[in-house]
Amino acid sequence: MRIERIHNGIVLDHIKAGVGIKILGLFPTDMLKSKIDYASYIESPRLGMKDIIKIENLDVDPKTLTKLALISPSITISIIRNGQVKEKIKPELPPVVEGVITCNNPKCITLKEKYLTSKFKVWLEDSKVRQQCLYCEHIAKSS
Ligand SMILES: [Zn+2]
Repeated sequence: MRIERIHNGIVLDHIKAGVGIKILGLFPTDMLKSKIDYASYIESPRLGMKDIIKIENLDVDPKTLTKLALISPSITISIIRNGQVKEKIKPELPPVVEGVITCNNPKCITLKEKYLTSKFKVWLEDSKVRQQCLYCEHIAKSS
């Protein structure tokens, strides 16, 4: 599949194969007015298979970068301006993530007490992201 070049926007590359669709869900629906190229299960020398997404006229904020790293730790983000790569970002998983993830333990206090900001300890295990709620100690595994 040929992926077109974009002039201004972002290129999300080295996404774990199959999770690109989850990543598209992170962006506001306004994005749907932009031109998007999404290719899934492309051969990659580094990952075996990968997804790649190009979105025109979109930027990423630091919170979104953290979310991207949580969904696919292998991701790289290129910021494209005037047809050139202006910046290449490899987001790091922070040791603790606040206010980004919702605990999936139905008994967790953060679900009842809405004023609490969720806090998760995050680490990689067998190249999968593990996240532990610092309130109830529930451990969740994502992608
Ligand atoms: Zn919890």
